[in-house]
Amino acid sequence: MLGLMQVRPLLISNLIHFAERHHGEAEIVSRRVEGDIHRCTWVDVARRARCVANALDADKLAFSDRVATLAWNGYRHLELFYGVSGSGRVLHTINPRLHPDQIAWIINHAEDQVLAFDTNFLPLVQAVHTQCPTVKKWVALADADKLPQDTGIPNLVSYEAWIAGQADTYDWPEFDENSASSMCYTSGTTGNPKGVLYSHRSTTLHALAATLPDAMNLSARESVLPVVPMFHVSAWGLPYSAALAGCKLVFPGPAQDGKSIHGLIEAEKVTFAAGVPTVWQMLLAHTQGNGLKFSTLKRTMIGGSACPPAMINAFRDQYGVDVLHAWGMTETSPLGTLCMLKEKHLSLETEAQLAIRLKQGRALSGLDMKIVDTDGKELPWDGETYGDLLVKGPWVIKAYFKSEGGDPLVDGWFPTGDVATIDADGFMQITDRSKDLIKSGGEWISSIDIENIAVAHPAVAIAACISAHHPKWEERPIIAVVKKPGAEVTREELLAFYEGKTAKWQIPDDVVFMESIPIGATGKILKMRLREQLADYRLTTTEA
Ligand code: ADP
Repeated sequence: MLGLMQVRPLLISNLIHFAERHHGEAEIVSRRVEGDIHRCTWVDVARRARCVANALDADKLAFSDRVATLAWNGYRHLELFYGVSGSGRVLHTINPRLHPDQIAWIINHAEDQVLAFDTNFLPLVQAVHTQCPTVKKWVALADADKLPQDTGIPNLVSYEAWIAGQADTYDWPEFDENSASSMCYTSGTTGNPKGVLYSHRSTTLHALAATLPDAMNLSARESVLPVVPMFHVSAWGLPYSAALAGCKLVFPGPAQDGKSIHGLIEAEKVTFAAGVPTVWQMLLAHTQGNGLKFSTLKRTMIGGSACPPAMINAFRDQYGVDVLHAWGMTETSPLGTLCMLKEKHLSLETEAQLAIRLKQGRALSGLDMKIVDTDGKELPWDGETYGDLLVKGPWVIKAYFKSEGGDPLVDGWFPTGDVATIDADGFMQITDRSKDLIKSGGEWISSIDIENIAVAHPAVAIAACISAHHPKWEERPIIAVVKKPGAEVTREELLAFYEGKTAKWQIPDDVVFMESIPIGATGKILKMRLREQLADYRLTTTEA
């Protein structure tokens, strides 16, 4: 016997319809590429998303055809999110920080038909357009009178001219909720980029779960700043969660420096912000250096790489801002776990509570996870035993686009490539990526632990731990360090800083000071590149 409730497919168009009707007045504020601040509302976004849908119809794009974007966080990008997916096409957000060859490869692999780009990416588009035969229209996200001239790009239109003649009425079509809605390629830090194809159903369920109180805890009273780019797994789903919760959205555009972000937080009374640690590092350096405070910011969600304890402490002690540590991957839409404390943790001493806050947290409601040994046997949740982390759930990948890499699942579970512990309360902690772990004399050392200690030193801006060959122990940790401008620390001082903070045998054997450390397209340290840069490095050791 079937239930007798209405069968309404979970479509992305429902989210924008809801936001328009129930939170129409909530503002969308964008710092534009042009440098100015643009203000509109959910009503405006919904109206112009319908114009986008009509423009795509006029261009004869078929159901499931791909529309790509090379764009920063802003209102026009948001309109494309809803206009493209809502009308049944697939939004392909491209990471502009990738190498142009990789971008051309991705465009061809996805067979993008239309590509919309912020005008500051014009040189990039000029570099790749001749290699992209599937793209039949290039849309510059600009006013008609700002359309770049003499670009050499055929079929180039301005976004405003493209949607200007279109009706702002459109009946969002109903179709199978399992239809593809958007796609994102993995950033390639672990090999060739692979396409992850999200569905309307997976996106909606992810947005619902992510909005829950023990996740991002969003409501219509929040002013939300996604610093994490919309090309990085849809800004962790915030454009969707914000619509279903009716939040105000604040978009930073290309200006990610500490001064711009702080200014926006204050001017727009931001209460919740989200981004990777490197961005918050710049923000904290700016506020600390200039004696600034946050008047409205209450929470900041940090993920993408491990959040160092020094950052959690700085936000809490100096600014009264709670850090919400989160873990996820392109393959998990991306949210997998968030570190929201349980009742029993609230009365813990500061240090004991910090130990919990450093964990990547509990599974989002609807997602399951486990850790296994090399034979695939499930390991205990004791907070100590570590193993390969596997996840499953309705917003976890089943297969890559065009079946690249074969079947990624193991008995229905997706192996994340991360190594983790899970404690008795279900709090997961990443110890490392499987290939970044350091094996010293048969014992594992977590590179994350070693990096966290280094960045707690006041003179250290960035630290990355990799292994160096050792004649006796096979691998030993060394730490590459970029100092803060004007700050000084010697090799001996930094190594002494480790005393008492970790087991003696885990203290790195050497410190390598560098001008910069390679950071990838999504703000993460590129360990592979760093290893290449330090290929000639040899440990000088007296031990045989
Ligand atoms: P890529 O694998 O190409 O870097 P993703 O952006 O999908 O692409 O990165 C996912 C990976 O980032 C995770 O598998 C994990 O290794 C790392 N990661 C994400 N969030 C965290 C976190 N909070 N702490 C530690 N590592 C994290």
